[in-house]
Amino acid sequence: MDNPTKYGKALKRIRRRRMFLFSVILVYIPAMWLIHSVSPAFRTMLTSFVIWVVLLMTTCLRAAVCKCPRCGNYFHVHGMTMLFLKKCLHCQLHINADRTT
Ligand SMILES: [Zn+2]
Repeated sequence: MDNPTKYGKALKRIRRRRMFLFSVILVYIPAMWLIHSVSPAFRTMLTSFVIWVVLLMTTCLRAAVCKCPRCGNYFHVHGMTMLFLKKCLHCQLHINADRTT
């Protein structure tokens, strides 16, 4: 049997990148609201939107290229599918597998 605790380091990295991605998504509305109250000009809004999209794509890509410590495949990518689930799309390793034991 395999021991999930030895995946701790890699799973921690996956969790951190996921958290970062979700924070980028969540920060969108408050950030846009804040920028709009400071400078409601269309140009400023457009620029901040473009910056946000670039940031989102970067964090999304960083989270997507994380490899599963058990099967060695991409944790969130299976073929053309990209799903940010809590389990590996290949071997079903849970993201918190190192915490439960
Ligand atoms: Zn896996």
